[in-house]
Amino acid sequence: MFVSLGTSALAGAGVGLLFGVPAWGAAAGLLGWGAYQIRQFQKLETWLRNNDGTAPPEANGHWGELLDELARMQKADRKREQALQAVIRRFQQSSAALQDAIVIIDRSNNLEWWNRSADKLLGLKATSDRGKPVMNLLRDPRFIRYFRKGRYNEPLELPSPVNNDLHLQYQITVFGEGDRLLVARDITRLMRLEQTRQDFVANASHELRTPLTVIRGYLETFLDQDLPRPLARAMGQMQAQARRMENLVNDLLLLSRLDASNHIADEHRIQLKQMLNQIYQDALALNQTLEKDHSINLQLDSGADVTGQELELHSAFSNLVFNAVRYTPAQGNIQLRWWTDARGGHFSVSDDGIGIESVHIPRLTERFYRVDESRSSSSGGTGLGLAIVKHVLVRHGAHLTIDSRPGEGSTFSCHFPTEMLVGASGTHPAETPDAQPH
Ligand code: ADP
Repeated sequence: MFVSLGTSALAGAGVGLLFGVPAWGAAAGLLGWGAYQIRQFQKLETWLRNNDGTAPPEANGHWGELLDELARMQKADRKREQALQAVIRRFQQSSAALQDAIVIIDRSNNLEWWNRSADKLLGLKATSDRGKPVMNLLRDPRFIRYFRKGRYNEPLELPSPVNNDLHLQYQITVFGEGDRLLVARDITRLMRLEQTRQDFVANASHELRTPLTVIRGYLETFLDQDLPRPLARAMGQMQAQARRMENLVNDLLLLSRLDASNHIADEHRIQLKQMLNQIYQDALALNQTLEKDHSINLQLDSGADVTGQELELHSAFSNLVFNAVRYTPAQGNIQLRWWTDARGGHFSVSDDGIGIESVHIPRLTERFYRVDESRSSSSGGTGLGLAIVKHVLVRHGAHLTIDSRPGEGSTFSCHFPTEMLVGASGTHPAETPDAQPH
């Protein structure tokens, strides 16, 4: 039964009046009311503290209403909590069932949560690794560099830290306030398929070499004889096509070698002056063979060299130079230039030839992509030249830019970062002893 403050005081005063002490009676009534409130408070406090889902303590009036309301709110909260827990449980179950390793890393680079596949693929231990810095557990320097760099547009491919035969593709996504989601996918099967493809191309190219050499040898012997004209023409064509096929096989072999590893094997200082002079001489020779009558000019504006793999860089530079000789119509101007600036070293090949429509430019470095099939074939190209150039440059931390306008000409430039430069750096306009206008 609920008794209000006024009623208690009045009732106390009434009883007190019977004994001739109404004021004492009223005071006793108020005291009793106070004691009742304190008792109710204590019950409420104990019930709230237990929070064990039991019914609230019995009470009447305002206390009863208050307790009922609190009980209703508590029940609703509990239901919401259960629903959220169910969602979390389902999320954890589904991510645990995923084949990919999923790891949540907090903004201090510590491991916060991971699924079961992460135990298997990354060797994380649920018992001991929670809260530890990710870089203490995934220690491959390539991963640490990738993680620190903070630019996660491209995924990273590495062997698994627990099993060298497993190849993983790491992809990081930033979410929340600097938290990161790391997904590691097992790409061993894909890598094996890729390896099989590469091996096939390399083996097929290699196997084609011997029969081609024999065919070319015989054709050369026949062409040395005095042959009837139609036969000589046919033989001449066969020889040209055999040479083209040989170039194709050589380019395919080079590409498959480049594909086989992402790193340069025997990196050393390249004597650029010597190399570019050699390519320049070869360009002059090709110019004569093709009767192009171009004016070819080599300008060395810097004495700096680059570090890298000699054959690869020779192949990349000469591809650009020979393309300029082949695709520029007769009596064109071709400028070869090497210079350095604050951003690094640059080798460019400019011509004032046919140029290339802008739609083709982004696709030029794709294998076998050609702007004009008939023109490329007649020029003896393999369709692999620029793919090789791009591949070689990427392996050297460099990149290719193509600036071209139809009818005005093209400039193909190789840009090397400063780390790849050795020796004299900066632009030295005085050092141009090799400018040899043709
Ligand atoms: P290809 O063996 O056919 O020359 P590349 O990969 O070397 O193959 O070149 C791709 C295409 O780019 C060529 O087919 C040609 O159409 C175009 N190209 C390359 N260099 C030049 C250039 N200097 N001027 C005009 N077009 C060029």
